[in-house]
Amino acid sequence: MAERVDIAVIGAGAAGLFASIWAGRHARSQGRSLSIVALDGARKLGAKILVAGGGRCNVTHRAVEKSDYAGSSRNAIGKVLRAFDVPQTIAFFGELGVTLKEEETGKLFPITDDAHTILNALLDATRDAGVQLRHPWRVGSVARLSDGRFVITGQEQPGGEELPTITARVVILATGGMALPKTGSDGTGYGFAKALGHTVTPVVMPALVPLVLDARSFVRTLSGLTVPARLEVRSGTGKKLCSFTNSTLCTHFGLSGPGPLDISRYYFDALLVDPGAGLYINWSPGVTGEELDRLLIDKRAQSPVSVLTSVPVSIPERLARALCFEAGVEGNLRAEHLPRESRRALVTMTTSMRLPVAESRGYTYAEVTAGGVPLSELHLGTMCSRVTPGLYICGEICDVDGRIGGFNFQWAWASGYLAGKAAAGAVG
Ligand SMILES: Cc1cc2nc3c(=O)[nH]c(=O)nc-3n(C[C@H](O)[C@H](O)[C@H](O)COP(=O)(O)OP(=O)(O)OC[C@H]3O[C@@H](n4cnc5c(N)ncnc54)[C@H](O)[C@@H]3O)c2cc1C
Repeated sequence: MAERVDIAVIGAGAAGLFASIWAGRHARSQGRSLSIVALDGARKLGAKILVAGGGRCNVTHRAVEKSDYAGSSRNAIGKVLRAFDVPQTIAFFGELGVTLKEEETGKLFPITDDAHTILNALLDATRDAGVQLRHPWRVGSVARLSDGRFVITGQEQPGGEELPTITARVVILATGGMALPKTGSDGTGYGFAKALGHTVTPVVMPALVPLVLDARSFVRTLSGLTVPARLEVRSGTGKKLCSFTNSTLCTHFGLSGPGPLDISRYYFDALLVDPGAGLYINWSPGVTGEELDRLLIDKRAQSPVSVLTSVPVSIPERLARALCFEAGVEGNLRAEHLPRESRRALVTMTTSMRLPVAESRGYTYAEVTAGGVPLSELHLGTMCSRVTPGLYICGEICDVDGRIGGFNFQWAWASGYLAGKAAAGAVG
C-alpha cells in the first residue's frame, strides 16, 4: 500500500528546501494542515550549500539583474526573480537569526563566514514549517496517474532495502543540474521531467567551469599567478560577443578564478554555432593594444619588461617576462631596439592573446549547469508546468544559470519560493 502525501518535493538542495519551507508556511497561513515530504538521495543534506563560496556560502548579491543570467529568455528569468528579491532574501534569513554582510564585490555572506549557518537555518525552517525531510531517499521514477496523482518510487538502496512507494497530489521537482555530481545532483531529474512530458534543452553543459588549456601553453607554467584580466569571446569573423573583466588565476591545467568561470559557458556556447569562435585575454584590462603600442614607442629608453610592469600596464614581472619570451622579444633590451613586428607581437600577446582552450574541466569542477527545462514550459508566476498539471519545477534543473556572486542561489530562492507557495495553494 502506497503512502499518500499532499506534496512531495524531490530534491532537498537550496531550491527544494526553500520550496518546502514556503509550501509549509503557506498552508499554515491558510489554517490548513498538509502532509509535505522532501525526499533527497543524499546521506548528508546540503553538500552544495556547504561547499558554496569556499565554505562561506555566497547567499546572494546586492544587485541581482536578469542580465546576470543566461539560458531561457532574460525577461522570463527577470519575472521569476522579481517575485522574491534580494531584500526579501535578507529579511528571510534575518528572521531565522542569520545576519548577512555585504562585501566590496557586492556578494552577501553570513556574518559567521560559515555555510553551516545557512544550511542549519534552512533545515530548521523546513522542519518548523511542518515538512518531513527524508534522506537518503533516492527517487527512481515519477509518473502521473490517470486520477492526476503522482506515484513516486524509490531507487533500490545499496543494502537492498526497498523504499516505500509514495503517491502525491502535487510534485515539486528540484533535483538540480549536474555540477558536482558527487553531491547527488547527477541529472536524473532531467529524466523525470522528460517522463512527465517536458523537454530539456538540446545542450546541457558545465558552466562556471575552469578552462583547460593546451598542454604546450605557457600559461600553464605560470601556475599560482592571479591577475585582473579581461576575457572576451569573439566570433570566427572577430566580432566581440561577450566579455568579463575579473580576477584570473593561472593554474597547472589552464585558467580558473571568477573571470574564466564567468566566461566559460559563453565561450563553449559560441563554439557550438561557430567553430571559429575564440577566447581572447587582455592581461592588462585598462590598457588597449593601441595604448600599449604607443607606450612602447614613447618609453623607448625603457626595457619592454619595465614598460609592462610599470603603470599603467602594471602586470607582474613573471608574466611580463613570459609574454616577452612568447612574443620572441628580448625583455631586457631598450624598447627602441624592438623591430616593429616584435613590438606588435608583444602588444597582441599582452592585450589580445587568443587562448588555446582544449576543453572545460567538466561537471566535477563546475559550479552550475547551463541548459535544462526551458522556462517557456512553465507558468512563471507559479513555476507550475504548462504540460503536466500538479507538477512544479524550480532551481538549477531549469534552463537558467547565473554568473559568480550569489546569483545561482538567488535563482534557487526565488523559483523555490514561487513553486512552494503555489503548490500549497493548489492542494485545495
Ligand atoms: C563548488 C560550488 C560552489 C558554489 N558556490 C555558490 C555560491 O557561493 N553562490 C551561489 O549563488 N551559487 C553557488 N553554487 C551554485 C549553487 O550551489 C547551485 O546553483 C544551487 O545549489 C542549486 O540549487 P538546487 O536546489 O536547484 O540544486 P542542488 O543544490 O544541486 O540540489 C539538488 C538536490 O536534489 C537531490 N537529488 C538529485 N537527484 C535526486 C533523486 N533522483 N532522488 C532524490 N534526490 C535527488 C540531490 O541530492 C540534491 O540534494 C556553487 C556550486 C558549486 C558546485
